[in-house]
Amino acid sequence: MNQSAAKLMVVTQQAAVSGGYLIVQTEPGSQVAFQERLYQADPEGYLAIGIGRDVAGLHELTAIDGAGQRTSLEVWIDSRSFNIQRVSGLPSELVTPPQSVTDRIVREAKAVNSARAAGNRVDFWREEQFIWPAQGRISGVYGSQRYYNDISGSPHWGVDIASPTGSPVLAPAGGIVVLAEADLYFSGGTLVLDHGGGLSSSFLHLSKLLVEVGQAVVQGQLLAEIGASGRATGPHLDWRMNLHGERIDAVLWADTPVP
Ligand SMILES: [Zn+2]
Repeated sequence: MNQSAAKLMVVTQQAAVSGGYLIVQTEPGSQVAFQERLYQADPEGYLAIGIGRDVAGLHELTAIDGAGQRTSLEVWIDSRSFNIQRVSGLPSELVTPPQSVTDRIVREAKAVNSARAAGNRVDFWREEQFIWPAQGRISGVYGSQRYYNDISGSPHWGVDIASPTGSPVLAPAGGIVVLAEADLYFSGGTLVLDHGGGLSSSFLHLSKLLVEVGQAVVQGQLLAEIGASGRATGPHLDWRMNLHGERIDAVLWADTPVP
């Protein structure tokens, strides 16, 4: 046994599944490597790593401390199966966008990605037990393979919560508003909330936005109203989570106890 081996542990074993995440505790100042990416621990030694939808099986975590000393740990990631969901009755320009809106779609995707990478130094991601931002029937789940009007699309990344237009959308945890757009092509009224630690929530298809970019919000605060804007067949909230650029299952985050 190597007595100088640095601390390295996963404190959220139940979320170690495809589309899930690992919250890792190591020495402050250390970096942790996972799947050829490096993650920086916060001043208390914590960091979170997103697990891709199609990642499963045995993987290695390696902590590298300030002196270059390495400590490794094997983690098992449970696989999940994802269903197929067919969405029909959409206007054809929302399934196969015309050439004239290509620039707009690319520009909007860039704006959303750069907002998610904002990297505010707040700790809501590991200090708060997240709550669901809306109530209603679950009409879509993370990871399902989508067909829009019988045309294969990308997997569905959020949880869809169906509720009438005007229903409240609450902050699942504290955060900083990093994007507030009333009308994006696919997602309609869209908000992105940075919870710190590389974790953000996105809220899609909103009918009304009640917060502004730069605003700090607290858990449970009213953020917006549910709608059917963008590519939607009826009013619902699509709640997504992004962790260091990886799309993860928001339900798993909300339903896993804070370590
Ligand atoms: Zn959706």
